[in-house]
Amino acid sequence: MEKYKVKLEEEKKLLEEELAAIGKEDAETGDWEATPESEVKAQDVEDEADMAERAEDYEERSSTLNALETRLNDIKKALGKIEEGTYGLCEVCGTKIEEERLDVNPSAKTCEADMEKVV
Ligand SMILES: [Zn+2]
Repeated sequence: MEKYKVKLEEEKKLLEEELAAIGKEDAETGDWEATPESEVKAQDVEDEADMAERAEDYEERSSTLNALETRLNDIKKALGKIEEGTYGLCEVCGTKIEEERLDVNPSAKTCEADMEKVV
């Protein structure tokens, strides 16, 4: 169990660093937002093409950020389960999740048979 906790804590730290590089955390809700262009480089928006390109970058940052945030939430949830003593149990059928599965993905929520059932 301890090894998964260490893995999860490490991954959490990495994810938070990645998130901090492209966005910021809302102190109240704990939600992450991609850094708006205006705050990245407010000064040198020169023409419309430039602005379009920047908007695209923002979209890209947002979707990367959302993916990272989802992953971070899974990890936080898994860490919470370690505290509660329910870590490693399938959310669908309640049996133990295969150890090989947790080795690959310590924040797995279901056993192998149920993995399709949880989105
Ligand atoms: Zn299951």
